[in-house]
Amino acid sequence: MRILVTGGAGFIGSHLIDRLMHENHEVLCLDNFFTGRKHNIQHWVGAPNFELIRHDVTDPVRLEVDQIYHLACPASPVHYQYNPVKTIKTNVVGTLHLLGLAKRVKARILLASTSEVYGDPEVHPQAEDYRGSVNTIGPRSCYDEGKRVAETLCFDYHRQNNVDIRVARIFNTYGPRMLENDGRVVSNFIVQALKGDAITVYGDGSQTRSFCYVSDLVDGLMRLMNGDCIGPVNLGNPEEYTVLQLAQKIQSMVNPGAQIQFKALPQDDPRRRQPDITLAKQALKWHPTIPLEAGLETTIQDFRSRVEGAIPAPSIPYVEV
Ligand code: NAD
Ligand code: UDP
Repeated sequence: MRILVTGGAGFIGSHLIDRLMHENHEVLCLDNFFTGRKHNIQHWVGAPNFELIRHDVTDPVRLEVDQIYHLACPASPVHYQYNPVKTIKTNVVGTLHLLGLAKRVKARILLASTSEVYGDPEVHPQAEDYRGSVNTIGPRSCYDEGKRVAETLCFDYHRQNNVDIRVARIFNTYGPRMLENDGRVVSNFIVQALKGDAITVYGDGSQTRSFCYVSDLVDGLMRLMNGDCIGPVNLGNPEEYTVLQLAQKIQSMVNPGAQIQFKALPQDDPRRRQPDITLAKQALKWHPTIPLEAGLETTIQDFRSRVEGAIPAPSIPYVEV
């Protein structure tokens, strides 16, 4: 098949492309390189069935494809809050463009939505029928509300124009290739511990997250794309940890001498998050298989090679609104 991956040079997108290339598909990677890097997909450049397109999804795109994985959007709070208006445009205008493309060429399109649509949830764990508790005007809203509109657009294109959609609600995912300056918790803690810096726990560390290893997540995305369930479907690992527990685990695995430093909790930081994956288990026959410690081992190895100087991390370029 001819498969387009928007955001394909990013963390999840590049792992997805590896799987699609190994299955001998024709893969088009589209990215504006805001948080993605060429290095992530460099090993496919030159392959006859791989094409790299520098493009911003806020501009329309014309291509002929059979499937679209629509992942383009910065995922880390540090990066999506860097230029919030651009983040909303990416989620709303960008998704509109990709849905328009899917409609025109009759491609199936999968939206990478997020657990953030549940906001700071009042129900626990979160199932797909929970409608969420989201602040419309806070610093996270550009991302949360952007993804909520993106979901709405998918379902309206589906009802109105018969577009073949799939919607995944992805929970916190980690693994090799996260940027060193990504700003998300797993990468921050590992890089800090490797450098001998203090591990920065925001708030008292009692807030919880559930961490899914990237290969499990990619498997879930591909099952969703190629199955009959349109979603939305939660994809995540239900093993729940407090942020302090994560800090202590990484401290013990990387650098038992590293200090833990408590810092202010960012505004609207969700207090707890855990996916209910009953639907994914039933409809996709999917469940995560990599326990946190095993996933952390591989991730730590990857960061160690970069922090010790092999590949310099790029600085984040300014992106015009
Ligand atoms: P990432 O930041 O590594 O990747 C995003 C990619 O999109 C990058 O390559 C970036 O350059 C590209 N991009 C951003 N804006 C763009 C634009 N306007 N036009 C073209 N390309 C653009 O993030 P990730 O963790 O790989 O996340 C991928 C997708 O999954 C995102 O849509 C994110 O919202 C979603 N998601 C991720 C997580 C997670 O824990 N990683 C959780 C929930 C949802
Ligand atoms: N966090 C932290 N220290 C850091 C980065 C993040 O304690 O250096 C906390 C953050 O406040 C949140 C959790 O870790 O409670 C997960 O943050 P992340 O940005 O990874 O993802 P999200 O909040 O979007 O789930």
